[in-house]
Amino acid sequence: MTIDILDVISTADKKKEITVQMDMDCFVSADQKFPITGIKPFNLCLTNDNNKRLLISGDTALDVVIPCDRCLEDVVTNFHVEIDRVIDLDEGKVICQEDEELPFLEESCLDVDRLIYDEILVNWPTKVLCKDDCKGICSVCGQNLNQQDCGCDRQVIDPRMAKFQDIFNEFKEV
Ligand SMILES: [Zn+2]
Ligand SMILES: [Zn+2]
Repeated sequence: MTIDILDVISTADKKKEITVQMDMDCFVSADQKFPITGIKPFNLCLTNDNNKRLLISGDTALDVVIPCDRCLEDVVTNFHVEIDRVIDLDEGKVICQEDEELPFLEESCLDVDRLIYDEILVNWPTKVLCKDDCKGICSVCGQNLNQQDCGCDRQVIDPRMAKFQDIFNEFKEV
C-alpha cells in the first residue's frame, strides 16, 4: 500500500504512527515468483526530526514460500522485517543525496510494499533446505529421493571431472 506523508515531511517535529499493510502477495525476483503468506497489519512510525531528518521505523514478520535448493519442495521461510530508514530533509522537503536512491518514496507518497520488498531482498537466505539432510532429486529420473529411492545408476561422471579423467589417462599412456 502507499500512504501520503506530506504532513509529516512538512511539519517540524510531527510524529505519526500509522497502521499499514503490505499488498504484495508474492516476491518477484529474476523472473521467479515466491508466494508471501502470513502478512499482518503493523505500525509504521514516522517522525519529523526538526525538519532535518525524516525517520521511518517499524517491524513485522511474514513468510515467503521458497523451493528447497536440493529437492524443490516448498519451504515456508520466516522473515523478520525491520524497517529503519533515515531520510534527509531540508526545511520540510525531502533531499535525495546523489549516491542515494529512494525508490520507496515518490514526492510525499511512501510505498510500504517497496520498503518491505527491500528488507526481504537484503535478508534473502543464501541457502534454503527443507531439512539439513535433504537427499535432493535423482539427476537421472527426477524422483524426490526423500520420498523413495528410484534405484537409478547416478554414478555419471560430471563433465568437469571427465576432463581430469582424460588428463589422468594421458599421463598413464606416457
Ligand atoms: Zn529438500
Ligand atoms: Zn532416478
